[in-house]
Amino acid sequence: MQEFRHFINGKFVGSASGVVFDNRNPVDGSLIGQIHEAGPAEVNAAVSAAREALTGPWAQLTQAQRTLLLQRVAARITERFEDFLRAECLDTGKPATMAREVDIPRGAANFTAFAETLAAHPTESFQLDTPDGAGALNYGLRGPKGVIAVICPWNLPLLLMTFKVGPALACGNTVVVKPSEETPATATLLGEVMNECGVPAGVYNVVHGLGPQSAGELLTSHAGIDAITFTGETRTGEHIMRAASVGLRNISMECGGKNPGIVFADCDLDKAVEGTMRSAFLNCGQVCLGTERVYVERPVFDEFVTRLKLGAARLSPGAPDDANANFGPLISREHQAKVLSYYRLATAEGATVEIGGGVPEMGAPFDGGAWIEPTIWTGLADDARVVTEEIFGPCCHVRPFDREDEVVGLANDTRYGLCAVVWTQNVARAARMAASLEVGLVWINSWYLRDLRTAFGGAKQSGIGREGGIHGLEFYTELKNVCVKL
Ligand code: NAD
Repeated sequence: MQEFRHFINGKFVGSASGVVFDNRNPVDGSLIGQIHEAGPAEVNAAVSAAREALTGPWAQLTQAQRTLLLQRVAARITERFEDFLRAECLDTGKPATMAREVDIPRGAANFTAFAETLAAHPTESFQLDTPDGAGALNYGLRGPKGVIAVICPWNLPLLLMTFKVGPALACGNTVVVKPSEETPATATLLGEVMNECGVPAGVYNVVHGLGPQSAGELLTSHAGIDAITFTGETRTGEHIMRAASVGLRNISMECGGKNPGIVFADCDLDKAVEGTMRSAFLNCGQVCLGTERVYVERPVFDEFVTRLKLGAARLSPGAPDDANANFGPLISREHQAKVLSYYRLATAEGATVEIGGGVPEMGAPFDGGAWIEPTIWTGLADDARVVTEEIFGPCCHVRPFDREDEVVGLANDTRYGLCAVVWTQNVARAARMAASLEVGLVWINSWYLRDLRTAFGGAKQSGIGREGGIHGLEFYTELKNVCVKL
């Protein structure tokens, strides 16, 4: 039995109230341990520690020294790779192969990539002419924004948290992280790493708990927070925006999606099927960038559906340490109930269930787990709830189309705008599609491939702002304009 305590001012502390809640393994429902729930006392202490650290030894570090320290953090995550891997797999149930390839390496890379990119980025500087001929020097000066609240989801816990903590610290801020109540482990482990690397106390803090009327809301409404960066559902984002409006705090939001995949008949069909398999079913469909709507040009529609079904049938569910498994459970029984309600709704809305639609027979010891079948539907109307609402499970609806302008209309007919995937060999068409799709990210003949220095974020109700590379600078720093008359 593990105990997940808060990490405040460099120390692990329990809740003064003694309130704890269970952390369960989604593979079999067994108890992993108990999580301390932060109340006002812990949130106040974490925010105070972070505020104090803004003026302590952390503030004395040069950018080069900060970069070195964050490189050390990345190296230490890599040294403790197996600890992070075990913790992430226990919390999420995801296949260890995926966490080994994606979650943990990216967790480390987020520290080096951002520290190095931001350190290398110049700030603007102009020489002005003045009537007296002496001129003036007008330049920008960037400083940290202050204490950043980092609110995280459960689907890629370490990866998404460090995507924010990395640049926040690289810019000289301090942070208070609120990990998802489903996945407390890697954020807690990172506290140990921060101490091992000599990151000053108070720079990285973690408070555990739920969202509404708990740690999440206490943190986002705390007056000592200067800015909030959030990844999660759009509805939660709306709540957080309201909290941020008090005191006019800055926000950065990465929210939900209902992402389209678009398959033209001129594509390499093998790659389109393989790519859609990944984008629909990786991490049991719990990836914000995942594809839940697939549009396929009519001449290849039947073949595409047949081959996608074959691929889904070959997915092999199993526990993280099962070397033959490539498909884990959903995060929790609650989320399983939500996804299953959409599976039932699809049938009620008139879908043809091409494959899946239920819960697989896993047998002992997995009976208490959050298992679900990968599911493919066809035949739904464009305004069906299953086609318009984010499900966040391993499922997609596939629909034929006939014309390019038609599919652009279908893809854009959503309140979301996170990403889109286009499969075509026609470069001119690819460029037209990229320009027409109302999203923050477009992949052509690939998915999930991205240089960390590029912008990440969603259009419409999928988010506010862009993070990634130098794009995070606007959020994580305060830019001061200085003009010196010479
Ligand atoms: P969620 O919105 O339920 O929770 C996210 C975090 O917010 C959790 O830590 C939760 O405790 C906290 N929270 C909830 N209510 C709060 C409140 N009122 N005040 C403050 N904090 C609160 O999301 P989730 O279920 O953890 O994650 C799945 C969602 O995240 C999906 O919608 C998915 O699309 C989205 N997501 C988006 C991206 C992206 O980059 N755009 C990445 C991953 C996940």
